[in-house]
Amino acid sequence: KWDEILMTVKTEHDISDIAFNTFLRPLEFYGVTGNTAYILVPSEQLGLSYISKKYYLPLKVAITEITGTEYEIKFILPEQAKSIASSPNKQKKPFYSEAASKSNLNSNYTFDTFVVGSNNRFAHSASLAVAESPGEAYNPLYIYGGPGLGKTHLMHSIGHFILERNPDAKIICVTSEEFTNEVIESIRSGNAAAMNKFREKYRTIDVLMIDDVQFIIGKESTQEEFFHTFNALHSAGKQIILTSDKPPKEMETLEERIRSRFEWGLMADIGTPDYETRMAILRKKIEADEMNLSDEILNYIATNIKSNIRELEGALNKLLAYSNLEKTDITMEIAQKELQNIITPDKPKEITPQLIIEVVSEHFQISLDQMISKNRSKDIARPRQIAMYLCKNMTDTPLDSIGALLGGRDHSTIIHGVQKISDEYESDETTRSLIDTIKKKINPN
Ligand code: ADP
Ligand code: MG
Repeated sequence: KWDEILMTVKTEHDISDIAFNTFLRPLEFYGVTGNTAYILVPSEQLGLSYISKKYYLPLKVAITEITGTEYEIKFILPEQAKSIASSPNKQKKPFYSEAASKSNLNSNYTFDTFVVGSNNRFAHSASLAVAESPGEAYNPLYIYGGPGLGKTHLMHSIGHFILERNPDAKIICVTSEEFTNEVIESIRSGNAAAMNKFREKYRTIDVLMIDDVQFIIGKESTQEEFFHTFNALHSAGKQIILTSDKPPKEMETLEERIRSRFEWGLMADIGTPDYETRMAILRKKIEADEMNLSDEILNYIATNIKSNIRELEGALNKLLAYSNLEKTDITMEIAQKELQNIITPDKPKEITPQLIIEVVSEHFQISLDQMISKNRSKDIARPRQIAMYLCKNMTDTPLDSIGALLGGRDHSTIIHGVQKISDEYESDETTRSLIDTIKKKINPN
C-alpha cells in the first residue's frame, strides 16, 4: 500500500518525476505505533527538514485517504528508527483491511479496544446487539453524546463486527458532511443518471452509518434525500446507525418527520467517563502501545483531563512520541511540561479569531503557518478567505486586526476576501453548506 500512497501524493499534487524520485521514492514506511505512522528518511542528506515541510501534509492526507485511518506522521532517520524498534511496540494491528477500508472504517475502532464503563455501558450493549443482529435489534440505533466520548469508535466497532462475520456485507460509513456533499454533487450535475447513481449506491446496502448527523440540520435537499434513503433502507430491514452530539429532541430546526425517524429505534447516550474508566482507558492504551508510564503519571492525566477521551489519548500519544524520539523514560516533570498545553482549566470556548483560524485550518487540513503565509495557491487562499469571512461575521474584531492575525494583510485584502466568500455564500449551495458546517464546528451550540 505504501507505493499507492506515494503515487497518490504524486498525482494529487502534480509532483514532477524528478522531485518524486529524489524525495518521495526513497522514503520508506517504517511502522505504526498508536496513532503515529513513522516514515523513514534514509539519509540526512536527503533533506529531512525540507521533506518534512513540503511533504508532511500531502503524505498525511494520502495515508488517511488510503488507510481510512488518521495518523499523525513523523519523519525519522535511521538512528531514531532504532530507538523506536527497540521499544517493542511495532505494528500490531493490520495496517489495512480491505473490506473495512472500503467501508471507510477505522481499523483501530473495534469492540476489542473499547473500554466499557458506567458512562457507555448502555450504548455499548446496544451496539453489540445491533452488531449481532443488524436490522433486527434496534433500527435505527442513534448514539449521542459530547465530543471525544467514543461515538465514532462504537459505530465503527459495529461495522468491523459485522464484516468479520460476513465480509460480503455492504456497509457504508460516512460523515454527514460527506453525505451532504454527495447529495449536492448529484443534484448539481443536473442529470437523472447522477441522482440514480446516488440512490442506487445508498439503497442497495445492508448497513448505513452516518456520523455526526447533526450537520444535516438546515440543509434542505440533504434532509430530503436522507428521508428517502432512510425509508427505503428501513422498510427493507436494513440497519441504520447514526451518531450525533445531541438527542433528536434537542435538534431544534430538524424537520419533524426526520426527528421522529431518529427516535423510532433506540437512542443511547454516552456520558463523560468517571475516574476509573479514564484510568482503565489509559491503561489499555499504554498496554497496546507497550509503553511504560508510572501510575503517578497516569493519575495525573486522568485527574486533569476529564471530559474528552480524545484529549486523554492525545496526552498519551504526546508522551509516547517524546519518549521514542528522545530515547528517554517519561518522568513526572517531563509529563507536566509536555502536557501543559493540553491540561488547562475547563472553560467554555470563547469565539475568538484565533479559534476560528484554528478550526478552519483543521477543517481544510492545512497548517497555521500556511494560513498566515504569503502562499496564494487556491488550496490555501480560499480557506484563508473563509477565515476572514468567519472572523468578520462571528466576532466583532476590526478588519485591521483580522488582517494582522492572518499574516499582516491589509484592510483591502480582508474586505475583498470577506466579500468574495459572502457572494459565494449567497449564490452557491456547496459554499453555503461548507460555511455552515465550519460555523457549527466553531460554535456547536
Ligand atoms: P466521538 O465520535 O464521540 O467524538 P471518538 O469515537 O472519535 O469520539 O473517540 C475519540 C477517541 O477516544 C478515539 O480515539 C477513541 O478510540 C477513543 N475512545 C473513546 N471512547 C473510548 C473507550 N470507551 N475505550 C477506548 N477508547 C475510547
Ligand atoms: Mg465522532
